[in-house]
Amino acid sequence: ELELVLAQNKLRYDRIAPWIDKCDQHINELLDFVSEDLFRQKRTSIVYTIIIFSSGFIILTIFTLFQIRSAQTLSHQLRKLSSRMHEFAVGDFSQADQLPTSSDEVGMLSKAFLAMSEQIKSHIATINQERENAEIANQAKSQFLANMSHEIRTPMNGVIGMTSLLLETELTKEQYDYVNTILSSGEILSATINDILDFSKIESGSMMLEFRTFELRSCIEDALDVLAVNASEKSLDLLYLIHNNVPAFINGDITRLKQVLVNLIGNAVKFTTSGEIFVSVEINSMLGEIVELKFSVQDTGIGISKENLSKLFKNFSQVDASTTRKYGGTGLGLAICKRLSELMGGRIWVTSEEGRGSTFFFTIRTTVAATQPRRYLNNQIAELNDRHILIVDDNATNRRVLEQQCKSWGMKPHLTSSGQQALNRIVRGDAFDLAIIDMQMPEMDGVQLAKEISKLRSKRELPLIMLSSANKPENVNDLFIRYLTKPVKQSALYDALIAASIKDWKSSERRVRSRYSNVEVNLAEKCPLRILVAEDNVVNRKIALKLLAKFGYSGDAVENGLEVLESLERQAYDVILMDVQMPVMDGLEATQKIIDHWGEQRPWIIAMTANAMPEDKQACLAIGMDDYISKPFSLKDLQAILDNMKRRAVHRFGLAHPIYSK
Ligand code: ADP
Repeated sequence: ELELVLAQNKLRYDRIAPWIDKCDQHINELLDFVSEDLFRQKRTSIVYTIIIFSSGFIILTIFTLFQIRSAQTLSHQLRKLSSRMHEFAVGDFSQADQLPTSSDEVGMLSKAFLAMSEQIKSHIATINQERENAEIANQAKSQFLANMSHEIRTPMNGVIGMTSLLLETELTKEQYDYVNTILSSGEILSATINDILDFSKIESGSMMLEFRTFELRSCIEDALDVLAVNASEKSLDLLYLIHNNVPAFINGDITRLKQVLVNLIGNAVKFTTSGEIFVSVEINSMLGEIVELKFSVQDTGIGISKENLSKLFKNFSQVDASTTRKYGGTGLGLAICKRLSELMGGRIWVTSEEGRGSTFFFTIRTTVAATQPRRYLNNQIAELNDRHILIVDDNATNRRVLEQQCKSWGMKPHLTSSGQQALNRIVRGDAFDLAIIDMQMPEMDGVQLAKEISKLRSKRELPLIMLSSANKPENVNDLFIRYLTKPVKQSALYDALIAASIKDWKSSERRVRSRYSNVEVNLAEKCPLRILVAEDNVVNRKIALKLLAKFGYSGDAVENGLEVLESLERQAYDVILMDVQMPVMDGLEATQKIIDHWGEQRPWIIAMTANAMPEDKQACLAIGMDDYISKPFSLKDLQAILDNMKRRAVHRFGLAHPIYSK
């Protein structure tokens, strides 16, 4: 501030100086004029007037000069004060006795300043102590989280392992959907546990992202699946639209992307009592290989006030206490979303209007993967091409979504927003090949409309597909070919449209093929391996053996590291699936002993652990284990590990080893 005052004074002086010079000059000229000409011509009155004005000028000039002079003096004093304060600030406080003792202003200020410095010193000491305490507490918290994670992951392995086995059995389409949802939800749950653990990593900026090819649509559908039940319980329409030019397969971290979507959709469902939630993806920009995708999650919920918008995206921040009481939550969700979207090369923002709803946007940068899209994503499907489809739905967004999807398969959609409108068109004689009817509509609902249509159906069969956000209504089996629950997955819609088009609807409840039909069921035959499972938890032991059996392997099982060593003395194994935390002797110690004893002739050792932190994986690999699978794992994960082993074993054992034999 002192520096500023000095600078301002100087500026003022510099600005005024030329004017004073000019004034001086003019006054001199005037005086010359007055004395030489006007006095001579005796125009005294004019002369006096001019003299008075001139004197005014002179007085003004002197006054200004005086002001500047005093400003300069002030500047000088302030500069002196500033430099003394500066000396005290950086100087040695122990020399306090050298400070001026006079009662002048500077002396008093210096004393006050010294007292303040002493206070600051003591505050700094307290803060350092507090920081040490906080660091100790933080370490304890991390340890607690790691322990909790282990305790949660062990039973989660039971849920996910058994579910993936159940999916391998014969199921009806309905059962298959349920089991599939359990599996997806279980996977999301375990991913969430990871995220809680990872939160401290996010803070320290050391979180790593995966980079793998995945299908964008299934990522979004999986995220919607997790919230579909909650949305349907609140009678909310859950809709999504992937714009046509968005790449089907992209590279990146599917779990993190799904996590951001689940968080945002979860909030949308939580804070909306009626209306719809609309998720959409479009291309924001494209630069060579890199594509920026823009996701939006729009709701018709309570909205967020202007002043509260700024509080979002901060750790543990919920906009007000009453919201927390009413809706629950940790206040961590949006902070994680923000960091994750930034890690994925994008950003997150929101627009909202109180009482009308909010739209959360986020972007990610990614590259397009070369993988072939699935058949239902292709345009112009022969069975559907040029088919006229009647779409009856009171929700405009849903009509738009269905229209876009039907058009992408070469169909000709006709949109109507009520049962009566649809009926009028049919009565009028408009020909349709099939119709999709929303169940929940005002005035005439889906079932009533279907009944009306069936009365007219005498001449021409019109296959109907029902769309519903709730459960299938009772006693309507004859009216509809298929029942689709919202949000309608593109694959499910495709199946339903094909079924309706080929009029094979009686067999629509046929048994479906497994989601893991690409599992190598005869892997054991092609590549015979002697496998030992070391796992102390009885459920997880059973799961590991059953999952192996799916590939045709009949593995042996033991309960701890010591038993592993004893087993190896009795017979040779090619692979050991080794739990890390076991009583008597843990997996790490057992591995060390195996390496010491067997050297290069040892079996391939895969760590199988519920500790999910990257450093746990590092610890396993550092001790010499060959690979790592973290619990909970599914059949798919085990297959990936076995595939990986086959690929890498050739480097260690050569082609002759059974791991790579075929
Ligand atoms: P929480 O887990 O508590 O929901 P979030 O970080 O996800 O934490 O959200 C923080 C706060 O932001 C919420 O408590 C809520 O007040 C507000 N919020 C988030 N999403 C929405 C939404 N879609 N509509 C209205 N308010 C929202």
